[in-house]
Amino acid sequence: MTSRKRKLLPIKGQQKLPFLQKDVNNNEVPKNDTSFDSQSETEVDHKKYSQSEPEATASTSKNNRKIQSNWFKLWPWLYESDGVLYCEPCVDNKKKNNFVTGCAVYKTTSMTRHEALSDHINATEAPKLATEFQQAVQQSHSLEDKAVLKCIKTVLWLAQENIPLNKFESIFELFRELDVPDLEPLRLNKHVNYENYYTSTEILGAISCVIDNEINVKLAQSPYITVLADESTDLANKKRITSNARIVNGTTSEPETVFLSDHEYEDGTGIGLATVILQEMQRRDISVDRLIRFGSDGASVMSGGNKGVKGILLQKQPHLIHIHCMAHHLALCTSQAADLVPAIKCYQQWLTSLYYYFSQSS
Ligand SMILES: [Zn+2]
Repeated sequence: MTSRKRKLLPIKGQQKLPFLQKDVNNNEVPKNDTSFDSQSETEVDHKKYSQSEPEATASTSKNNRKIQSNWFKLWPWLYESDGVLYCEPCVDNKKKNNFVTGCAVYKTTSMTRHEALSDHINATEAPKLATEFQQAVQQSHSLEDKAVLKCIKTVLWLAQENIPLNKFESIFELFRELDVPDLEPLRLNKHVNYENYYTSTEILGAISCVIDNEINVKLAQSPYITVLADESTDLANKKRITSNARIVNGTTSEPETVFLSDHEYEDGTGIGLATVILQEMQRRDISVDRLIRFGSDGASVMSGGNKGVKGILLQKQPHLIHIHCMAHHLALCTSQAADLVPAIKCYQQWLTSLYYYFSQSS
C-alpha cells in the first residue's frame, strides 16, 4: 500500500470556507453534509473522541469547521489532499463511498460513520485476508508437494529395484495401513485418486525426461564419444537394439558410461541397425565427427566392413575405430575352449535340457 503524505490546510481563523452553504434559516452548513455513504450507517459512540478534539468543538464555531491535526492520529486511514478527506484503504480497494470521491465535511461524525461502514471494514481487512489466503495456498501446495514427492520416490524405487509398476497401487495400500503421513492430497474423493498405475507411468515418463536431459548435458560436454550397441529380444520376442555411450565427464574428466536408448527394430540388416544408431545420435545432438569408436558384439552384421554397421559408420566417419566387446570376446573364448572338454560339454547339455524341462512345464 502506498503511503500518502498528509497535508494539512492552513488554519484560516473565521474565514468562510468554500464548502459551506446556506440552509433554509440562512445558517451556513457544510455542502456535503447529507452526502454520506449511501449504505445504512449506525450511530457511533463519539465520547472517546470528544476529549481529543478541542479545536473541533471548542475553538471553532459550528459554521466554520477545519481539518484538525489530531484526526490523523485518531483515524490512521485518513489522509487529506487539496482540502478534501480520503480513506486510504477504501481508495486502494476501489470502494464506492464519499471518502473515495473525497469528503469535504469536516466533522468527526464523517469519520466515525465511515469507520462503521462494512465497505471500510472490508477494505481495512483486505491486506490481512490476502496474506492469510496466500499462506493457506502455500500450505496447501506444500502438502501437495509432499504427497507428489512420495509418489516420485516410490516410482523411482520400483524402477531401481526392477519391480513392475502395477505394484504401485498395492504399495500405497501398504503405506495407508502403515499410516504413512502426507498422503491425503492423493485421494481427491472416493472414486478419484492418484495412487494408480496410470499415475505411476506418467511419473516414470517425467523422471525419464529429467534423466534424459542430464545425459544430454553430459554428452554435450564430452569432446569425444564412443557408441556401444547390441541386439537382443524382449519377453514378447520383439527384436531390440540397446545403445550406450562412453564419454569424458565434463566436470571430473573421468570416463563414464551413459545410457542412450532401447529401440525396437524391424530391419535387422547392417543398414537398418546403423540407421537406428544414427537417428539416436541425431536426437541426442551427437555430431559424427565426435564419434571416434564403435563397440559391438563382433557379429558380422555389426562388424562387417562393407554392409555391416561398422562399414556404414566408417563412410560417415573415416577415423572411426571398431572395438570387439571384451565381454563378448571372453564368452566366445570360454565356449570354444569348453567344446574341447567332454565333461564340460556333457554338463552344459544336461543344464540346457533341465532348463527346457522346467520352462515348458505347467
Ligand atoms: Zn474507508
